[in-house]
Amino acid sequence: MFKYRLYPSAKQELRLVNQFKICKETYNTLLDLNKKLRVTRKFDLNGLVMDLKCANPLLAKKVHSQVLQNVSDRLSKAFDNFFERLKLREQGVKVKAGFPRFKSKVTSLTFPQNNGAFKFISDKKLKISKVGVLPIVLHRVPRGKIKTLTVKREKSGKWFAVFSCEVEPEQSVPLGERSSVGLDLGLETFAYLSDGEFVSNPRFFRKGEVKIRRAQRRLSRKKKGSRNRSKQRVRLARTHERIGNQRSDFVHKTSNDLVSRYETIFVEDLKVKNMIKNKRLSKSIGDVSWRGFVDSLSYKAVMSGGQVIKVSPKNTSKTCSKCGFVKEELSLQDRQFVCGGCGFVVHRDLNAAINVFRVGMGGAEFTPVGHSVRPLFSGAVVDEAGTIYNET
Ligand SMILES: [Zn+2]
Repeated sequence: MFKYRLYPSAKQELRLVNQFKICKETYNTLLDLNKKLRVTRKFDLNGLVMDLKCANPLLAKKVHSQVLQNVSDRLSKAFDNFFERLKLREQGVKVKAGFPRFKSKVTSLTFPQNNGAFKFISDKKLKISKVGVLPIVLHRVPRGKIKTLTVKREKSGKWFAVFSCEVEPEQSVPLGERSSVGLDLGLETFAYLSDGEFVSNPRFFRKGEVKIRRAQRRLSRKKKGSRNRSKQRVRLARTHERIGNQRSDFVHKTSNDLVSRYETIFVEDLKVKNMIKNKRLSKSIGDVSWRGFVDSLSYKAVMSGGQVIKVSPKNTSKTCSKCGFVKEELSLQDRQFVCGGCGFVVHRDLNAAINVFRVGMGGAEFTPVGHSVRPLFSGAVVDEAGTIYNET
């Protein structure tokens, strides 16, 4: 179970409370019908819900069908427990039979995953059918495949999203380095992976920028209110759109690929990284859309049962990934990292990526920031050849 704070707006809160009410009424109606119809089995109760929906189409409009189904599931569970207790009594065990009772209130809704009743729009936004897009705080990432979402209001008035996840047996085995990777997001190369792979920088971003600037200049030269000006405005908008599409296409392809191959991905915390980097570079940083990429990576990882862990980028470039020696100075022109301690020579970005990996894995001299997920194992070590292995 993974529990997170939800922050519904006043309007969304109203919708949720209204759905609580409908669920309560449905539950009680089903229980009441039981007196005449004697239905207690899950299948039959689900059928009754269908009948109720036919009789009252508004029901289906206001509450997701699977949520109503869950109401009848809850009732059939209550009946199952009741019958279980009856059996125990027959065996001489002293328990109260406890026939299911009418509910005075319902304070939670349960959504199954399998039919798009809810989904992550980003790692900060959760879209719930018939409720809307709700801000969510993912202080840690759900592990395993998400089975159901329960939205509930606690007595304090605080709202929570509770995910029940199915953790595959092989996922509960400590992860080896093959399924985890460190990422260094760079300017020259878009991303360097700690296992030596890299993703080239899409140069068309730069070209696109030139095109936009040219279109903008042309627009400013056209006379105000002229037909040529409005034509040029359309052209500019189209250029923006095309480049936006290329950008998002690249971001999606790259994040899909990484999420499909790695379960745990360590990235630098960009908030800190941008503060460290030179201001002059800010244009290029926007250019390669790091932030959009990390967001996309994060929610895709969440949806597929993986995780993205942000680590502090402090000294990731300056530290030798082999011996831990920290360089005083490293200029942006230095493409190679040459260690003053052990003489290790490695591509600068690969060195940083390995350090990101080490920090994420709980490297001694660094503390992970951002998502406070416990490192999977500590003591990742890089050997002479630059291969990473687990010390334990
Ligand atoms: Zn060294």
